[in-house]
Amino acid sequence: MIEFPHKQRQGPLPNHREGSDQDQFLITLSREEALARFEAALFPRVLPSEQQALADALGCALAEDVVAPIDVPPFDRSNVDGFAVRSADLASAGEATPVRLMLNDEVIACGTVPTLPVLSGTATSIATGGPLPRGADAVVMVEHSEPAGKRAINIRRAAAPGQYISYAGSDMARGEALLRAGTVVGSREIGMLAASGIGQVAVVRRPRVAVISTGDELVQPGRPLQPAEIYDTNGSMVTAAINENGGAAIFLGAVVDDEEKLEAAMRRAIETCDMLVLSGGTSKGAGDVSHRIVGRLGKPGIIAHGVALKPGKPLCLAACDGTPVVILPGFPTSAMFTFHDMIVPVLRRMAGLPPRADAKVTAKVPVRIASELGRTEFVMVSLVESSGSLIAYPSGKGSGAVTSFAQADGFLKIDALADQMPAGTEAEVTLFTPHVRVPDLVIIGSHCTGLDLVTAPLARAGLSVRSIAVGSLGGLAAARRGECDFAPIHLFDEKTESYNAPFLGEGLELVPGWRRLQGIVFRVGDPRFAGLDAPGAVRAALADPACIMVNRNQGAGTRILIDRLLGDARPDGYWNQPKSHNAVAAAIAQHRADWGMTIAPVAHAAGLGFIPLADEHYDFALVTSRKNRPAVQAFLEALASEEIRVALQRAGFCKA
Ligand code: AMP
Ligand code: MG
Repeated sequence: MIEFPHKQRQGPLPNHREGSDQDQFLITLSREEALARFEAALFPRVLPSEQQALADALGCALAEDVVAPIDVPPFDRSNVDGFAVRSADLASAGEATPVRLMLNDEVIACGTVPTLPVLSGTATSIATGGPLPRGADAVVMVEHSEPAGKRAINIRRAAAPGQYISYAGSDMARGEALLRAGTVVGSREIGMLAASGIGQVAVVRRPRVAVISTGDELVQPGRPLQPAEIYDTNGSMVTAAINENGGAAIFLGAVVDDEEKLEAAMRRAIETCDMLVLSGGTSKGAGDVSHRIVGRLGKPGIIAHGVALKPGKPLCLAACDGTPVVILPGFPTSAMFTFHDMIVPVLRRMAGLPPRADAKVTAKVPVRIASELGRTEFVMVSLVESSGSLIAYPSGKGSGAVTSFAQADGFLKIDALADQMPAGTEAEVTLFTPHVRVPDLVIIGSHCTGLDLVTAPLARAGLSVRSIAVGSLGGLAAARRGECDFAPIHLFDEKTESYNAPFLGEGLELVPGWRRLQGIVFRVGDPRFAGLDAPGAVRAALADPACIMVNRNQGAGTRILIDRLLGDARPDGYWNQPKSHNAVAAAIAQHRADWGMTIAPVAHAAGLGFIPLADEHYDFALVTSRKNRPAVQAFLEALASEEIRVALQRAGFCKA
């Protein structure tokens, strides 16, 4: 077995020497060891408490035991609408021997203080919740009485003493311990506190967590984006995740990669906050300065810089005179995983909250997942159901992607000592939500923006749709294994010169989708392509050595068309092979390339010139055994509807 020294190492910190420059990190720690050292540097610690109004205490941990200050209910009260009586008066009451009671001259509604006693032979009308008058020891339901002349009632059944009475203190007795310190305040606890008249409680103060994003390229959402800029994803995301886990986040904005400015911002933050979470600038690249500053903020400084996690290796953990300072990796997915895995446990402890109880399920992995040896790897998965058991599809798009986070159901962990997870593994999946949400309709295959138009009415009808983009061939394989309802495909068969049908096997049937016009895209006004047809445009491009193309990935239907046009030519840009239609359009619009091939709707949306080449058929392989499922029928109906036909046409697709 291969041994990783950092996995077993115990004892003093090996990764920075006394007096050495803090950014010289020689060893990457395992996640377990990094977390253990981080916690050891921060706990035990005093958790400050504060008084909070009930509504504001929601989600906080109680700092002290709460003792009932009063009896609840505060007086003996009736549980029903009826009559307060003396039970002894009714001892002889029966079906044939009614007892007649005279009504006292008052009605005790809620909030009414009784003034007349219930003497033997009398009863007082009382409402649910009314205080029991002196002398009464039972209540008779109004349904069990009948009027008996003026101001009198007959009762035909006996009443046990105490019947339909809640005695003072029967719910909570004054002096009784209501809630223990450490209890997390939820709506039920708030109800209990309100009932006993408590308007404020002592809770563990939510840790104030300062959030700073770092990077010259960051722009806050809502503002316009300039070339080479990106939106600050981590700022909002980390702020929300802190608030979700018992902290009170204070977002201080994005700071440029300037050591002096950043240091000033960090110092201000730790003066007023209990914790500081930064993101970005933790790699050792040019402009990455945040980790260099941390070492100067307090003792002991950096505890781990580099954790054997994937994604998330550049995570930096520090304690500066008792204040945790964390630098999350810049890539949002890495930031989220490391935040949840390594920071949430510490944050919750500081908030007095118990560890998160994440729901877990076992699911089978349908494809092999490669993994880096020596790093604990997190893989996001989407769950689908196949003959009663769960299947976990890896759904990551790389650590720079954020959509996968919102669309995945959970993640699985691949051990640091494994270099892969073989297909067929039964893996434990940690859910992002408390329960598995098995989708009503599962679509696995090639993605197309037109698909969103067809599934829109299903979502409106309350049906959940899961669409997993794995390409046409991956979709067909999933359909053959019965893991999806539909596999959207666009595969050209050279032999029959036709699309899709030749690729279906037993158990699958073709549902026609729509046609997408593929063609050459270029910037409007580029004189090299004006007025040409597609082969002519490619000849013109090849004739100009300064003309750069953008290609598509192997396996894409579009790539097959490009290769046919290019023949043996390998022009500049050929090896730039992005995986989506939009990436092709972006490369041309941003002048990184001059021509490429994409579908008409994408070209038009990007404001590019378009020379049509071929009509591509985007159809659905339907798993026949799933045809009768309601969601499948709903999809077929939507596909056939006039509304969708019009919507597809408007978006630039043609109905098959
Ligand atoms: P860094 O660690 O600063 O080198 O960042 C690594 C990558 O994450 C770069 O592509 C950054 O542009 C990106 N990044 C850093 N911070 C953020 C953020 N707050 N939101 C989105 N992306 C970010
Ligand atoms: Mg940066």
